[in-house]
Amino acid sequence: MKIQMTTPLVEMDGDEMTRILWRDIKEQLIEPFVELKTEYYDLGLPHREETKDQVTVDAANAAKRLGVAVKCATITPNAQRVKEYQLSQQWKSPNGTIRAILDGTVFRTPIMVKGLSPVVKTWKKPITIARHAYGDVYRATEYRVPSPGTAYLQFRGEDGTSVEKEIFTFAGPGVLQGQYNKDDSIDSFARSCFQYAVDTRQDLWFSTKDTISKQYDQTFKELFAEIYEREYRARFEELGLTYFYTLIDDAVARVIRSQGGFIWACKNYDGDVMSDMVSTAFGSLAMMTSVLVSPDGNYEYEAAHGTVTRHYYRYLKGEQTSTNPTATIFAWTGALRKRAELDGLPDLVAFANRLEQTCLDTIEGGEMTGDLSALWEGNVPAQKLTSLEFLKAVRKRMEE
Ligand code: NAP
Ligand code: MG
Repeated sequence: MKIQMTTPLVEMDGDEMTRILWRDIKEQLIEPFVELKTEYYDLGLPHREETKDQVTVDAANAAKRLGVAVKCATITPNAQRVKEYQLSQQWKSPNGTIRAILDGTVFRTPIMVKGLSPVVKTWKKPITIARHAYGDVYRATEYRVPSPGTAYLQFRGEDGTSVEKEIFTFAGPGVLQGQYNKDDSIDSFARSCFQYAVDTRQDLWFSTKDTISKQYDQTFKELFAEIYEREYRARFEELGLTYFYTLIDDAVARVIRSQGGFIWACKNYDGDVMSDMVSTAFGSLAMMTSVLVSPDGNYEYEAAHGTVTRHYYRYLKGEQTSTNPTATIFAWTGALRKRAELDGLPDLVAFANRLEQTCLDTIEGGEMTGDLSALWEGNVPAQKLTSLEFLKAVRKRMEE
């Protein structure tokens, strides 16, 4: 008998090679074992075009209503894609649209296997980067200063208050930038991080540059501290977890010397840069999971990589590609496990755990896709499989 579900998952289909993997993963690894219930939204670019991108908004609202979503990688159109897909508009990034509706924080975690070792020798457990995905330099206003003169930072309140500070007196040309963030966005970033630490039973580190930025970064530090004291300290202590704040310089040094196994919360720019560094140091983009956690407890799971366009073009020519489906499988297991926890379905939790473990066992047993066989340092020889061969190898082990 197949494992039953009660509440549907929000299923967001996507584009190119990952769309092919999406179908194969469901057929090979999920539907044979689970009576899968989903509310399906096709976020593939042709259907976004047909619906004038309404489908993305509908999918995000469904995630808000049902609480757990799983998303396939999607194309963010650029000028070349507008031609390729004959689009009426250069539609916005689906992830941007979904994030704007759900709010929250993106958590990225490497999937570790024996035989693929991180560049940093001390890292034994994954390091999760929690990136604030709102404001700062990504929403800044900036321009080149043309000539000598004085720059001011001015605020005009709706109630008539006015604040003005001199920034700098230029003797010649230069550059100028204004950044902002909002207390409510920082609050929800903090809550998402504390909640995720509790959910995953890991310590939380948070770092900024508050010694230099005495108002801006200091506000982040203080809002985190207030929310921790008021809402999370008791729960952390009960679970034996630690929250600590440190300067980003100190955090970087500690991360490199650590064994891993914690969450590192970063401001928007720091998280952008540090997540690329951490994921590269752990080995492969194809072995990195990603989940968006909203402050009111909605979850959207995906792979951290894109639609693997280069492989798709080869697939269209009839070639069997060796594209790694692991991160997309883990998006499914992450979503199924969260759904199962919310609905009290222990069989489904066990299934998600077993599928993840079986993927790792398959790779550790030497059966893997080309991206991993190229990096392999394991004891058994590596066999390079196509995507479908790999899924079938996992399926075989699941059935045993
Ligand atoms: P990408 O799809 O992540 O692929 C970049 C390269 O990384 C691939 O060509 C491949 O290298 C390697 N790679 C990534 N995932 C792999 C996997 N699962 N197995 C094996 N190799 C893998 O990034 P991109 O080429 O920059 O972007 C392609 C499209 O994806 C774009 O249209 C972009 O808008 C979209 N995108 C979507 C998301 C999302 O939906 N979350 C995120 C990023 C990008 P080799 O070719 O050397 O094998
Ligand atoms: Mg980046």
